[in-house]
Amino acid sequence: MTTITTHWLDGQPYEGNHVTTSPIHDPATGGFVGELAHATPEDVEAIIASSRKASENWSQVSLAKRTAILFRFRELLVEHTDALAEIVTREHGKVLWDAKGEVARGLEVVEFACGIPQLLKGEFSEQAATGIDVYSFRQPVGVVAGITPFNFPVMIPLWMSPVAIAAGNTFILKPPGRDPGAGMFLAELWKMAGLPDGVFNVVHGDREVIGRLLTHPDVDAISFVGSTSTAKIIFETGTRHGKRVQALGAAKNHGLVLADADLDSTVENLVAAAYGAAGERCMALPVALVQEDIADELVAKLVAKAAQVKVGPGTSAGVDMGPVISEQAKARITGLIDSAEAEGAEILVDGRNLVVEGYEGGYFLGPTVVDKVSPEMTINQHEVFGPTLEIIRVAGLEEGIEIINRNRYGNGAAIFTSSGESARTFQRAVQVGMVGVNVPIPVPVAWHSFGGWKDSMIGESHIYGPEGVNFYTRGKVVTQRWPRQSGKVSFHFSGDAQK
Ligand code: NAD
Repeated sequence: MTTITTHWLDGQPYEGNHVTTSPIHDPATGGFVGELAHATPEDVEAIIASSRKASENWSQVSLAKRTAILFRFRELLVEHTDALAEIVTREHGKVLWDAKGEVARGLEVVEFACGIPQLLKGEFSEQAATGIDVYSFRQPVGVVAGITPFNFPVMIPLWMSPVAIAAGNTFILKPPGRDPGAGMFLAELWKMAGLPDGVFNVVHGDREVIGRLLTHPDVDAISFVGSTSTAKIIFETGTRHGKRVQALGAAKNHGLVLADADLDSTVENLVAAAYGAAGERCMALPVALVQEDIADELVAKLVAKAAQVKVGPGTSAGVDMGPVISEQAKARITGLIDSAEAEGAEILVDGRNLVVEGYEGGYFLGPTVVDKVSPEMTINQHEVFGPTLEIIRVAGLEEGIEIINRNRYGNGAAIFTSSGESARTFQRAVQVGMVGVNVPIPVPVAWHSFGGWKDSMIGESHIYGPEGVNFYTRGKVVTQRWPRQSGKVSFHFSGDAQK
């Protein structure tokens, strides 16, 4: 019998009136593992109505009670890490230890959200004018919808929902269509943690469903993570309908390797950052800008190391890298490698024709090293989101920074060097949101916020951390006086009488 992934409404699975479904595949085998129910307009309406109703009570629940639920949710996530990771590996394909790592990074945000009483303390100015105190605090925005991408089906919902919920909002998750199972499991964990029904709902579907979330008067804020073209649609539509929107987009992160870098550790870092999760990370490092003097030596080491990467199903022990998400993704990545070859780059390690024995139907590609790339080539102009590492040879620091700043994306960038001066120049000049100094994937810890620049982020609010708390709350300022009975009221706006 086919397993159908349903929605989640009022603390339980909700089948809805589904008339359309889409298939879910195991990327390691290409086999069909289930179907996803798509919501009808009536289903979306029911889910939004539940979230709106639940927000009336949830926004009144004390900080102490909210925090207690967050702590219980944190314990349940730890307890169920293996189960969550298995779902991620089955539907996404990444190796099990990487899926567990994804849960651990999401857990960090839950732990940050456990500190919500401290984060919402507000500010107080005593005696701002004679007899007048002024204080400010923040209140929840209401109903938040989170629209998430396929590549981190646990971590990205956890970048959003714990902070939104801890701040007193209700949350509607729209998980990715290709790997929706983890989002549903999170709903179960929230329920087990004691979250009231309707505070965390889940809706599945395509553009029509998302369009309804973006335009519905009872949705107040949208958190989006995905490709740039979608981020632009989400931002434009959501803001046009009066919502606050944070929309994180695609990436093309470059790592600059200077001649004074520790070559062996840099090679280890570059290989792990280019091929981990088959390159399907928005903070992957698919381009190495290598100082000419050391380029031949570094490339020889990279080629040797890339050839050792073990590719296979994510459930097998000893595997470094699983398949990519779909047949279409595989074809797109292969096409970009073909274009580099046609435009004059050299393919030193070629993963295009890799076949994993026993998994011939899987969407596998091997690690690929593309040397002698130039910034004008098609491959460098696009986000590959696959297991490729492009090498661009540069004269030094200045040219490296200039190439990074010319790229349309600005998510992350890294420098590998033993010079503090070069690192400092780099971190100040580079036009990206997150910088690594001898750290290839500089994803900020949860108490700093995450976000890129340029086409990697539309709008201005970064996600989780302090910016997340601000995004999910609205400020209010109270100016207060307790006058003696005979006090005279002044018509002055803020003149001497008030002071
Ligand atoms: P995607 O943009 O195709 O989909 C993301 C979400 O948007 C999904 O839930 C999808 O159903 C929905 N969606 C897709 N097309 C839509 C449309 N036309 N209108 C409305 N909604 C639509 O992205 P993806 O392929 O799932 O994820 C990969 C992309 O996400 C990559 O570009 C990657 O760089 C990016 N990403 C960015 C970050 C970041 O933090 N900046 C993190 C992870 C992934």
